[in-house]
Amino acid sequence: MVTSRVPVPFKSEAKEDLNPFRIAMHQFDTAAEKLNLEPGLREVLRRPRRALSLALPVKMDDGTVRVFEGFRVQHNSARGPCKGGIRYHPGVTFDEVKALASWMTWKCATVSIPFGGAKGGIVCDPHHLSHGELERLTRRYAYEIMPIIGPDKDIPAPDVYTDSQTMAWIMDTYSMAHGSNAPGVVTGKPTYLGGSFGRNEATARGCMFCVRSACEVLGISLDRATVAIQGFGNAGSIAAHLLAKQGSTIIAVSDSRGGIYNRAGFNVAELLVHKQKTGSVLGFPSAKEIPSEAVLGIECDILIPAALENQITLENVDMVQARIVGEAANGPTTPDADIVMYKKGIMVIPDVLANAGGVTVSYFEWVQDLQELFWDEDDVNRRLERVMVKAFTDVHTSAKKHNVTMRTGAYILAIDRVAKAMITRGIWP
Ligand code: NAD
Repeated sequence: MVTSRVPVPFKSEAKEDLNPFRIAMHQFDTAAEKLNLEPGLREVLRRPRRALSLALPVKMDDGTVRVFEGFRVQHNSARGPCKGGIRYHPGVTFDEVKALASWMTWKCATVSIPFGGAKGGIVCDPHHLSHGELERLTRRYAYEIMPIIGPDKDIPAPDVYTDSQTMAWIMDTYSMAHGSNAPGVVTGKPTYLGGSFGRNEATARGCMFCVRSACEVLGISLDRATVAIQGFGNAGSIAAHLLAKQGSTIIAVSDSRGGIYNRAGFNVAELLVHKQKTGSVLGFPSAKEIPSEAVLGIECDILIPAALENQITLENVDMVQARIVGEAANGPTTPDADIVMYKKGIMVIPDVLANAGGVTVSYFEWVQDLQELFWDEDDVNRRLERVMVKAFTDVHTSAKKHNVTMRTGAYILAIDRVAKAMITRGIWP
């Protein structure tokens, strides 16, 4: 029998609770309180529908066999097939994947695209695996999750340390097993294999549109704004490039090895080449090296966390000096830190909105694959802009109406949309 639940206590003793899944449930509960949901429905919405835990044996190049741990979690599919990235990282945990899957449900609903939420991950350090080992690991993982994925079931995409090559291997494995080409089983593929123009830049471009809207609300000129970015991978480095194109000055960036700072701003095109050549932002000429975390405390107009979860916490939130925080990463801010920034008047554009450009263009890619008709890049970018600008306005309006953070404003919108879908469909059987 489904019973109603008291919200999970968020703090464990005096310490801030950094468990991503408990954070995700707390964020859900905060918004669900405002919606007066029926308790049984609320319980269904806060938990993942299906969670797969895997042991993945791989033949290594030296002839030994190693077993990797992997996961695929489907949170909710009331509004459409599940959708969510696959992360390769030594720090992946089952609870992290569950949190990321639920954030995907709320993200798709926030921007109103017809998908539910999912996520996958493998505990591994891809930097210490050969190309062949990565391919065998990816194909074994694709085989193990094959019963639950498919173009109308669950559609994976890239996330941290996975890319278009990873997606091509999954697409090929799935297609081989099914005896027909299935480009719609994953998104984030190379354009010559059914990928969409604009997908690679979409997360950062969506974030840029949100930041631009936030600047309009706060009366900040984007072309004179200063920007600090934590994480210089797909989301972070392209956000730097796109914001610099808008005239903003990128004054601090970091990656997993450390950070760099120059008050006068970086030439982003040269920085991208440097990162590609050396593998890090460190060593870039005429930049002062700073600890990675120091990037969060740089005096600037816009701060973009674009790395991992739990970066802005109760411990370091007081050092944040930005006026806008655009969460390109998933889960970079803890609930307590969120409240501190809200009280200080910092506008935090939550992950479920700020990085939703990626899944939006993934949706466009899936649509193009299914209809086998492809759009040009301008078309993709224009459609993305429409979705993001509308979603920003919806979330901002919801936050103002309920007098809550932008995150809770987004969750109220999203939970309401998913709840309506579930109520109308009914609980099966
Ligand atoms: P990526 O693998 O391309 O890049 C990750 C970057 O973070 C790298 O530059 C890495 O060096 C850096 N990093 C790792 N640990 C760090 C640390 N402690 N301090 C500073 N930098 C650190 O991954 P990505 O795709 O850019 O994803 C980044 C974030 O954006 C993740 O939270 C991901 O879930 C989120 N996101 C990505 C997409 C997408 O389409 N790629 C979509 C939505 C959300």
